Amino acid sequence: MSRFFTEKYASLVPYTPGEQPQNRQYIKLNTNESPFPPSPGVAAAAAREAANCRLYSDPESRLVSEAFAKSLGIKRENVLAVNGSDEALNFAFMAFGDTLVFPDISYGFYPVFAALNHIPYTEIPLREDLSIRAEDYLNTGKMVVLANPNAPTGIALPLGDIERIVHSNPDHVVLIDEAYVDFGAESAVPLIGTYDNLLVVQTFSKSRSLAGARLGFAIGNEALIRDLNTIKYSTNPYNVNRMTSAAGIAALEEDGYYRENAKTIQQNRRYTTDALRALGFTVPESSANFLFARSDAIDGGELYRKLKERGVLVRHFDKARISAWVRVTIGTREQMDAFLRETEEILNEVRA
Ligand code: PMP
Repeated sequence: MSRFFTEKYASLVPYTPGEQPQNRQYIKLNTNESPFPPSPGVAAAAAREAANCRLYSDPESRLVSEAFAKSLGIKRENVLAVNGSDEALNFAFMAFGDTLVFPDISYGFYPVFAALNHIPYTEIPLREDLSIRAEDYLNTGKMVVLANPNAPTGIALPLGDIERIVHSNPDHVVLIDEAYVDFGAESAVPLIGTYDNLLVVQTFSKSRSLAGARLGFAIGNEALIRDLNTIKYSTNPYNVNRMTSAAGIAALEEDGYYRENAKTIQQNRRYTTDALRALGFTVPESSANFLFARSDAIDGGELYRKLKERGVLVRHFDKARISAWVRVTIGTREQMDAFLRETEEILNEVRA
């Protein structure tokens, strides 16, 4: 820390993103990216738009917002395009977060954005089986933040539970982070017309194979979106660049592509879940494009390191309650076979 770093952030512990190694080709199952390329029209659309980069992007992101809203059967006024859904989370915390509640095991950025914005927060423990108890989030008197499906567990809450939570906290925003919803959970978007306190956040980083383009959306009541715009225009008016908007529109025009890929991921998830269980792992049923797994035979950190030595990257979290676990992104069938083969060999090694 330099002697100039502001006192108010002296104790800020930043988010640690998953590794993006540049030195070696890994089988990369650590950051929940898609193993599939973006849809066929994306590259050409982005390249065409690059020719217009002399000019700022549209601060309202009208075209991509319109296309996205249309795909959901809602109005453009109900969506805000953002530079990756992380930006929507930060904007929403800034706009609506006086005090927050979220699970003790969830997306690691929630406590960081809370600290960055000096928002006090309460972490509610997941059940022993790592599921969320919906009752813990009723009548909280605070802004509620839930990932559905949750990360890194992959466990989803049914829409009925989400609705109960939204309904019981009428004077606070309930933010549902649907980064992984396309892999098998129920979206809360159909409820935004009924509840003025519901804010849904989605991303094109996962199911739509656009992690590197940075595109996400906040979805909610028009008044909530206007408030988020107040924050956006006070932070970064041109938050979504031209190539990314063009890429997003192209991806939306080829919707069938990502749905097919999401189906393949679900099949590979079933296959990998069953195979890991057969190897003695505990694996909660996941609705996301990753699995959370633990084995009595080996600690999570050790499994992570041994897999890395063998060229397979998974994610391990340095957090007491989940230190036995690893999170494994679902890739192609070939990638999962390689992961399973290495895992089985490591287990044989440690047991020998
Ligand atoms: N929410 C959750 C639960 C996530 O896991 C991630 C990915 N790290 C994000 C939001 C942010 O994704 P992005 O900024 O790429 O849209």
